[in-house]
Order: sequence, then C-alpha cells, then structure tokens
Amino acid sequence: MRYYSADCIYPISQAPIKNGVVALDDQGVITSIGKKEAFASQNIHHTKGIILPGFINTHCHLELSHLKGKVGTGTGLIDFLKKVVAFRDTDPAFILQRIKEEDAYMLQEGIVAVGDISNSIDTTLTKKNSAIRYYTFVEMFDFMQSSMTQATIQQYEEVFKAHEANEKNNKSKVPHAPYTVTSSLMKFIAEQSTPADTISIHNQETPPENEFLETKTGAFNAFFKHFGFNNVDLEPIGNSAIHYPMAYLNPKSKTLFVHNTQTTKEDIEAAQQWSDKVYWATCPNANLYIENALPNYQWFLDNNSKMTIGTDSLTSNWQLSIWEEIKTINKFQSYIPHQDLFKWACLNGAEALSFDDQLGSLEVGKKPGIVSIELDYNDGDFNIQGTQAKRLDL
Ligand SMILES: [Zn+2]
Repeated sequence: MRYYSADCIYPISQAPIKNGVVALDDQGVITSIGKKEAFASQNIHHTKGIILPGFINTHCHLELSHLKGKVGTGTGLIDFLKKVVAFRDTDPAFILQRIKEEDAYMLQEGIVAVGDISNSIDTTLTKKNSAIRYYTFVEMFDFMQSSMTQATIQQYEEVFKAHEANEKNNKSKVPHAPYTVTSSLMKFIAEQSTPADTISIHNQETPPENEFLETKTGAFNAFFKHFGFNNVDLEPIGNSAIHYPMAYLNPKSKTLFVHNTQTTKEDIEAAQQWSDKVYWATCPNANLYIENALPNYQWFLDNNSKMTIGTDSLTSNWQLSIWEEIKTINKFQSYIPHQDLFKWACLNGAEALSFDDQLGSLEVGKKPGIVSIELDYNDGDFNIQGTQAKRLDL
C-alpha cells in the first residue's frame, strides 16, 4: 500500500479534500480516499500543494513528433497545412524513436490516456507497449475529391486494421475536417460508427473554414489549387462549417469537436441540440502557435459544454503536456475556475474516450494515476503559473 497526501486533493468527482489522503494498492488501484485524520497511523508521503488524477490528452498526433520545431509560428492554418504536407523522406528509424520518446514524456507529465490521430501505422508498436492508454482515431480525408474517395477508404482500412483494439486501447475511423472530406466519405464514416464509438473531427480552426463551407468562397479555394485540385466536390451549405459534419455523422456516437476557435454561441447550441454526446477539445497552445487565437471559453461555460483538453502535435506545439495547456488557458482567460480546468483535463476527457471506468477521477476502484503540483496552496487562493506536473505513482 502507498499513501499520498497534499494540502488539497482534487478527486474531481467530488468536492476537493483539504489535507486529504489517497491510498493505493500495489497495482495503483485506489483503495480509500479521505481526510488525513482517518489515516493517522499510516506511512504517508506528503507533498506541498495539490494532487490531481492523471490527465487525458484528447487530441494528439503522436506520429508527427519528429517534426518538432520544423514549422514556424503565426502563419495561419492554411500556410501551416501546406508546410506540414510538404515534409517527406524522414528516416523511419528517427520517426519511431521520436514517437517512443514523446510517449515517455507524456507519461512523465502525468498523462494517462491519449486520443491520438493516426494517418499511418507508425505508432502501433509504441502504443502496444505503453503504460498510457490510447484511443486511436484513424483519420480519413479525400481532399474533397469524389474521385479519391474509394482509394482513401482502401488506404485507411489498412491503417485501421494495423492499430489494435483491446482491453487497454480502442480505435475508430474519423473524418479529418469539414473542408477535406466529401459527403460520400462522411457517409461512409458515419455508417461505420456505432454508439460505443467516439468520432473526432478538427472543427472551425480558421475563419476561411466557415466561409468555404458556407459559400465555397475564400482562401481554401487557393489551398486546393496549390495541391493541383481545380474542382472541389462541395455543395455549399449556407451555414457555418460545423453544420456540415452534423448533417452526416451519427448523433448517437460521442463526437469530439477539436479546436473550435471560430465556433459561435449559435454553433455550440446547435451542436448540443443535435446530440447530447458532444465534447469540445481545446488545444490552446496549438491555436496560439498557428493562428494566434483562442476559443471564447465563456460561451462554452454558458452552455454547460463538456470541455476536454488536447496538445495537438509537435508540429504546432512546444511540448506534449496537458499541464502546460491548463497554464496557458489560465494565463489568457483566468476567469475560469481552477476546478473547471481540472475537470476538463481529467474526468471530461476520460468520458470523451470512454476510459472513465478506470481514469479521470480519484475514486475507490479506479486506477487513474496520481499527479502532484507543488505550489503554495494558500487556502485555495493559489497561482499555477510557473508550476510543474509530476507523476507520483510510477
Ligand atoms: Zn490536430
């Protein structure tokens, strides 16, 4: 048995416990949690500050870890995508090495599960051997070209087969974004999904995305021409971009909309009316890296939205750390209570990936991982800037 205590413990599923203790068995499963007095005779490992459950990174592209630092900041999404697509011919051994290193880094940073976008099979071995649980989103796109839909499906069926689903890891087929997936590919993906699945999609990350779906005008036309596509098989929908996937995807599956910097109050309401299983993944550092923008979090709070947090990939971030994402949100929109941010990073993320049977909260019977943040607790009036996350129970 191991006993961890801190100035305050955040179970997430219940109110914070000042001077709390969490007890783990040798497998890391929580056997009890409560006030320190109840554990008086035990050998307790106390850390200054707070204790949280392990974090859930709901949006990552682990396979792109070798591209860290290769693309400049502040270019906007369209130029960013052009640059990422242009990278080729990296040594395969280096790609695999970087995947392994970043999986290990995420574990050190207190991350216990990852929703990971995969276009390739590069991450399969690391995921199989990792202490982190993975939900692999095999991501499909046909560049809005009906002539490419069948070949796209065939290509990604192979990738899907190569990724493992078992008692630890899961997988699903997902669309890349509203602007890269034809209606026939959206339909295919929707038909493949079941109510048990989570479907992730990049959403409303740049203003031209809304313009393109609504009227088929704007900067995305030049983007397609850049890749040699003069015709784009899109019927403009006369509405914002989020309405396009909603017209096809299965509202009975969980849907994880990712980024949402251009999502309006009306979009949030429409999506949550469409399905009661909508989750919103925010990746603040990636949004600042690419577009120098952030979502308006107040609108999501006003609508009781189920927020989760992701890092996106190392093409558009400085590190894969959920604690760094929390600090960034707190830095720029500090009106959001700490407790809300912790819920986004832990329990909401675990629910979005259906890993909440084991992860996301400090509850008896769960094995969520124990994360310490050393800080001056100051009776709840604490500052998280400048702090670091440390996994205690490894
Ligand atoms: Zn992404």
